[in-house]
Amino acid sequence: MKIGILAVQGAFIEHQKMLEDSGAECVLLRKKSDITNDIDGLVLPGGESTVQGKLLRELDMYEVLKDKIENGLPVLATCAGLILLSEVLSNDPNTYFATLPVITKRNAYGRQLGSFKKIANLNEIGGFEMVFIRAPYIEAVKSTDVKVLAVIDDYIVAVRYKNQLALTFHPELGEDNRIHRYFLDMVNNS
Ligand code: GLN
Repeated sequence: MKIGILAVQGAFIEHQKMLEDSGAECVLLRKKSDITNDIDGLVLPGGESTVQGKLLRELDMYEVLKDKIENGLPVLATCAGLILLSEVLSNDPNTYFATLPVITKRNAYGRQLGSFKKIANLNEIGGFEMVFIRAPYIEAVKSTDVKVLAVIDDYIVAVRYKNQLALTFHPELGEDNRIHRYFLDMVNNS
């Protein structure tokens, strides 16, 4: 099983380590020619969504990745990655892949709560220590097919829609690889 990890900016190495520890082969996607047809799954890491979005266009990677996501390639998106997938950003006129029918607010917790950890229940996985770094949250879902997996203080922090698993926090930090293993199961079953 081969997982492509978008590696133009942000926290991609940590995902690579967790996926390799969980038995997957990884390829870092730095340029268009890295996106080959034998990729079975895609990771969109955290970082800065505006920078990632700009680089995706400049490196001509945007169309080919959007096409793959729309055709069902399983995706694990964290934080900025979730922003790239969101159909609507409530406080930003830009959108990127826009394949996930949710309304997302960027930098949603403000400056004081720039970064924090919280243990919360994640459907299908259980209690999980979630690390938030200048995180977005999902304000609303736009389709009944979006499964809400975790909520903290009334705000949605994890969803699954078809083959897209999207989290506002960073499961690649720390030692707990249950989310990455769940994603690899998704890839196996797709
Ligand atoms: N604040 C970042 C953004 O808007 C996301 C932060 C992160 O990925 N940790 O893109």
